Amino acid sequence: MTTSTIRRVRGRRVWDSRGRPTIEVDVELASGVRGRAIAPAGASRGSGEAVDLRDGTERFGGQDVMMAIAHVNKPITMRLAGRDVQDQQAIDYELIEMDATPEKSKLGGNTLTAVSLAVAQAAAAANGVPLWKHLAQGREVTLPLPEIQIFGGGAHAGQRVDIQDFMVMPIGAWTFSDALAMVAEIYRAAGDLMRDAGKIAGVADEGGYWPLFASNEDALEMLVRAIEKAGLRPGSDAAISLDIAASQFGRDGRYRLALEGRELDRDGMAEMLVRWVDRYPIVSIEDPFAEDDRIAWIAFTKAMAGRLQVIGDDYLTTSAERVEAAAVDHACNAVLLKPNQAGTVTETKAALDMARKAGFGTIVSARSGESEDTAIVHLAVGWNAGQLKVGSFARSERMAKWNEGLRIEESLGPHSQFAGFDVLPFRRPAAAGGTR
Ligand code: PEP
Ligand code: MG
Repeated sequence: MTTSTIRRVRGRRVWDSRGRPTIEVDVELASGVRGRAIAPAGASRGSGEAVDLRDGTERFGGQDVMMAIAHVNKPITMRLAGRDVQDQQAIDYELIEMDATPEKSKLGGNTLTAVSLAVAQAAAAANGVPLWKHLAQGREVTLPLPEIQIFGGGAHAGQRVDIQDFMVMPIGAWTFSDALAMVAEIYRAAGDLMRDAGKIAGVADEGGYWPLFASNEDALEMLVRAIEKAGLRPGSDAAISLDIAASQFGRDGRYRLALEGRELDRDGMAEMLVRWVDRYPIVSIEDPFAEDDRIAWIAFTKAMAGRLQVIGDDYLTTSAERVEAAAVDHACNAVLLKPNQAGTVTETKAALDMARKAGFGTIVSARSGESEDTAIVHLAVGWNAGQLKVGSFARSERMAKWNEGLRIEESLGPHSQFAGFDVLPFRRPAAAGGTR
């Protein structure tokens, strides 16, 4: 038995940022060292995602996780006790084999995510280093360019507007801490503008202002005004990034914009998005089309070559195979990486490696249901993903992650590297996204 031998794996019920049950896992080592992780939960989910195991009983609207906890405390503990915690890949394959379903439905994507991340944390703790350092394995690291929500929408705001995330990217910042300071001013300015316009109504699931807008485009106008009011130049200090989350309102090539009372076909949808990119300083769009609309993805990415980061979230669901297929198709030029879409750290890393091989941008992302767990910040830094999306600039489950980034930046000293604007795929000359 060595100091990194797993003694026990323990699950417990904790609560996420929506007040729903979720699973926390402790991986305890023979040495007494421990790693801990909490599974997040999505609201706008791709059909290819690992599924959460929920009890489906009367309690907590069917959301309880007692079955997931039982899986951790008995079969998973029995299987992993005595194993070397440093062998992340072998442990993750073992979990995948135990589950033996394509969508992780037997043990639960939530169960596997929490166990896999807790294994990574325990391995780092056994080595006496933070998770990012454990993952970096001696390579130089770069702090990620943040993508920060100002207005929430879609499934995170009762469908009040159709578009899910209206975000800013502080592309003119030189450091991670500067980037956050810029966004703090934009968030504050947006709040002032919303108040002046009589549109203040609290915040959505990820902390962005609740979107009391008459049209989806009104939110874009307000975002540009907020950047200006913060004393920044739209398009050079801070740019706009959108998550359309189009699978939420699109199917079979048709898109229903409920707020505006109109339905668009895939060409109409593309025209609207191109017009927005022409009119506003937008540098990145996630899930512009539904996950079943491959031809629209391919045509749009071609039309936007050299101008835009096109991110697959529901379209790729953190799957290395899907990333590979999208690279062959040129259907997008970036991937959102959510560990609980894949189920394990190893599969998430495989999706990142595939994306990097294809010249794609890589964005590590939180979910709309979150907790105080900050592991994803460490993944973004340790894997040099280049970009990080964790929601808005409010609510402590979000701020815990931004603040963790600040601590990592400080620990790297005055010469820490920051991934600025040039991390976007269309800004990298030889990359799949082309040149400007
Ligand atoms: C997203 O769609 O990018 C997102 C973070 O939302 P959710 O977690 O609800 O999928
Ligand atoms: Mg998304």
